[in-house]
Amino acid sequence: MGNYYQQEIETMPVEQLQALQSERLVEQVKFVYDNVEFYRRKMDEAGVKPEDIKGIEDLHKLPFITKDDLRDQYPYGLLGVPLKDCVRIQSTSGTTGRRVVAFYTQEDIEVWEDCCARAIVAAGGTKDDVCHVCYGYGLFTGGPGLNGGSHKVGCLTLPMSSGNTERQLQFMTDLGSTIICCTPSYAANLGEAIAERGLKDKIKLKAGIFGAEPWTEEMRHNIEETLGIKAYDIYGLTEISGPGVSFECEEQAGMHIQEDHFIPEIINPETGEVLPEGEVGELVFTCITKKAFPLLRYRTRDLCFLTRKPCSCGRTHIRMHKPTGRSDDMLIVKGVNVFPSQIETVLLNLGYQANYQIIVDRVGNNDTCEVQVELTPEMAEANDVSIEAREQKIVKDLKSMLGIKVGVKVLEPKTIARSEGKAVRVIDKRNLYK
Ligand code: ADP
Ligand code: ZN
Repeated sequence: MGNYYQQEIETMPVEQLQALQSERLVEQVKFVYDNVEFYRRKMDEAGVKPEDIKGIEDLHKLPFITKDDLRDQYPYGLLGVPLKDCVRIQSTSGTTGRRVVAFYTQEDIEVWEDCCARAIVAAGGTKDDVCHVCYGYGLFTGGPGLNGGSHKVGCLTLPMSSGNTERQLQFMTDLGSTIICCTPSYAANLGEAIAERGLKDKIKLKAGIFGAEPWTEEMRHNIEETLGIKAYDIYGLTEISGPGVSFECEEQAGMHIQEDHFIPEIINPETGEVLPEGEVGELVFTCITKKAFPLLRYRTRDLCFLTRKPCSCGRTHIRMHKPTGRSDDMLIVKGVNVFPSQIETVLLNLGYQANYQIIVDRVGNNDTCEVQVELTPEMAEANDVSIEAREQKIVKDLKSMLGIKVGVKVLEPKTIARSEGKAVRVIDKRNLYK
């Protein structure tokens, strides 16, 4: 049994939880139909009336919303309340090129921060902790979300924001940070900086809450080892609120989705058909408590699967498996689907760190793909395997993982730019020709 921030709701029997969802869904559908012209039109077009939605079993009757809809409705088209009742905006990082602006009422902010507080408590956070938040602050939801959650838990909150690694390390050692929140790629960079400066003994970290980008199990082990912590995954997106839509408990086997606020579905991205539990597809969320920016059946483009298997932590909320990437992250190289996470798995299994880049280009009508990866400082120092032999080994392992042959270049340590927020793993030069 774990620690909870809101025990009653986090451990509510599934039947009761679903009854609560049904009740909230019915209310929310009425609310958006009455208040948002866009939904009224969409539902009318689909021939669905609010009365047709009597519970979660009717969810599938509602039309989907996509990122394009959000763009078309920019900036105020989806507001569920008068602008004067909104107290905040946040915006997506624009990783896939389309920035979305989301609005929040004070109550929406409270809900979001409660979700982040649940995540911090699940990672072992209490009033005694020093919570070091080095997600970016500002429009990006990472910093503000975890900051709010940390306040709710009562941790001493260090609003570090991202970057300035020297200052991060100084505060971390001087103030004895015990929990760190940032992107996994930045955590890996901090781990590297700590090792280089021989600071590991001065670090008091016990847990890290890492998300906002895909990361592999191999990377988790790597971070846990270099920072000497337990590394927890956290997931979220600006459109739905921000980080904390789901988070890992001590079991580290999928992230519990905050089902009292968000109803998840997995659909076939081609047909829109709802898939049974356990099948991989596109994750769709319906917000049942949000007022300022109320999204129903929002298609995230993230690919994963759900499981309702009981969890040893005692939480009853459904778990989502770590998204392997988003459907728009997926590269099609020589007609084959390639996820950057597959490449990361191969590289980390061979002992490299997550300092790599994937460069895709097109020469004539042919796609080219080159994976560039740095030697670790230990590999460079040992200098016992030739670069050619290393490259050949990676080419071979990538071929068996991906089914295609890609180019590989092994580089000297520190040649690939380090990220402070979301890492840029793919450079797709083919876009230049579009
Ligand atoms: P953008 O879409 O511009 O990156 P956000 O900052 O809102 O905007 O990012 C949300 C997206 O980040 C999610 O849709 C998902 O693709 C990714 N993401 C967030 N947390 C995780 C996580 N723990 N694992 C994998 N991907 C994640
Ligand atoms: Zn659990």
